[in-house]
Amino acid sequence: MCANRTTAADETRMTGRSDQQGGSSDPTALSGLDTVVIGGGIGGLSAACHLAGRGANVRLLERHDTLGGVAGRIETEGFRIDTGPSWYLMPDTFERFFSAFDREPSDYYDLTRLDPHYRVFWKDGDRIDVPDDPAALPGLFEAYESGAGDALESYLDMAQHAYEVGIEEFVYRDRSRFRDCLDPRILKAARGVDLLSSMQEYVEEYFEHPKLQQLVQYTLVFLGGSPHNTPAIYTLMSHVDFNLGVYHPTGGIASVIDGMADLATELGVEIEPNTPVSAIEPHPDGVLVSTDSKTHTVDRVVSNANPYHVERDLLSPTATEYGNQYWEDRTYAPSAFLMYLGVEGEVNPLAHHTLVLPTDWDDHFEAIFDDPQWPADPAYYVNVPTVTDDTMAPAGHSVVVVLVPIAAGLADGETARSRYREQVLSDLATHTGVDLRDRIVFERSACVSEFADRFSLPNGSALGLAHTLRQTGPLRPSIRSSAIDELYYAGSYTSPGIGVPMCLVSGEHAVDALEADATAGPIGRLVSPPAWLSS
Ligand SMILES: Cc1cc2nc3c(=O)[nH]c(=O)nc-3n(C[C@H](O)[C@H](O)[C@H](O)COP(=O)(O)OP(=O)(O)OC[C@H]3O[C@@H](n4cnc5c(N)ncnc54)[C@H](O)[C@@H]3O)c2cc1C
Repeated sequence: MCANRTTAADETRMTGRSDQQGGSSDPTALSGLDTVVIGGGIGGLSAACHLAGRGANVRLLERHDTLGGVAGRIETEGFRIDTGPSWYLMPDTFERFFSAFDREPSDYYDLTRLDPHYRVFWKDGDRIDVPDDPAALPGLFEAYESGAGDALESYLDMAQHAYEVGIEEFVYRDRSRFRDCLDPRILKAARGVDLLSSMQEYVEEYFEHPKLQQLVQYTLVFLGGSPHNTPAIYTLMSHVDFNLGVYHPTGGIASVIDGMADLATELGVEIEPNTPVSAIEPHPDGVLVSTDSKTHTVDRVVSNANPYHVERDLLSPTATEYGNQYWEDRTYAPSAFLMYLGVEGEVNPLAHHTLVLPTDWDDHFEAIFDDPQWPADPAYYVNVPTVTDDTMAPAGHSVVVVLVPIAAGLADGETARSRYREQVLSDLATHTGVDLRDRIVFERSACVSEFADRFSLPNGSALGLAHTLRQTGPLRPSIRSSAIDELYYAGSYTSPGIGVPMCLVSGEHAVDALEADATAGPIGRLVSPPAWLSS
């Protein structure tokens, strides 16, 4: 992959400049700045590329032996299994990222557009495919409810408008500070977009049938919320889901991570795996970033390690910015019970993406957000990438990943896991006809403990801070740390938020903020929102 760029990458390392590699070719405020990026998840890799692309010297310190963060890969016995994200959505964000360096996604990985986008098995025996062709959707909806076809068209018009406002005004434009929102353009653009009601209230205005309500709401799991606690602005996810296409990168999402790591290396980023950062301290010469073996003195730091972990484990107690109460009061996105399976044979009729849903899923959401317990009648997601991609398993085998959203903080010892494993595999066999139990040749699981221990995620939440109204836009933790002026954040805890595309963009915003502050000097750096405003 990209062997023809090796010479240019070597040149970058020798000259310490990245102008030849794409990105900005003009000297910027970042030229020659010494920086450290903590963590090689999506946000960290993105920030590292943008820093290097603008001329900074960049060292990326990752505590694990592999990059990608929660977007990891198990590679064993010929199986290649994505351990985290598996939906490649919003392809424009990936194009935008690579184009900042005069590249394209296809320079690093191949994409297949999926049709159907996904299959739904309802537990009453009903089943549908959500097709790639949006023109086929109204008929699908009309079959469940008279008038729902037209309602869907209006709903999707609004979703598209919300997406366009959202992506242009809140995602691609950094509005992570309140002052960034004092812009008449926003009010004008947002006219007609319902910002404040809940998704449930909003969706009920369009569809009565519970299955149709589920179809336009299931994407909320990507945001870590429920229909009752997520604001209606996220109707924009239906535009993402139904209109923009669902893609698969050959080799899985881990191929995107490989591509970003290759790009970072080409741009001159020094990547150091197996290097946990243990402390960040202000210093007259910049910032001290300590690992077990070394202390780096640098001009700026971008942390892809989340602000909860940074505050709790890396800053001195006197440099805290949010405090325990803040973290205790947050609404956390679900954790997940994940089974990573290598299976003999095919698993027809499971599709590349499959949802298995009870016709009433309120109990499941209650078991996540209101009364934490293992869901009795779970709604879950099954990923079988080998339906599309035979590079991910040995011949004659399939990869099956089962993801059940569960409450963050649940006790997940061996007994609970194996009981739930039996329950879910049996449920899958009953409702899809696919009984995996006698043909699993590789198996691993992940749950609350892995997210808490491996990634220092609060309560073992898989996705972090849910996108509730109080945790959206400038009410998420700021890109700019208020504890250390030279410290910035990239990743799902800050703006714009959860998901691979959002974290990709957050890396760019962190570097934009860092560059703007470096240009304006200390007086130009007004930190907001203060933590108390959003607590
Ligand atoms: C199971 C699951 C399924 C998902 N499915 C999808 C999906 O289909 N599509 C989608 O778009 N999104 C999905 N998401 C969400 C998406 O994957 C995440 O929002 C995103 O990957 C988070 O990236 P991040 O930049 O916040 O970094 P993280 O992934 O949190 O990575 C942070 C990195 O920092 C490192 N680090 C932490 N502390 C230190 C330290 N002290 N020193 C050095 N390094 C440190 C960590 O090891 C890690 O590599 C899913 C998430 C999960 C968990």
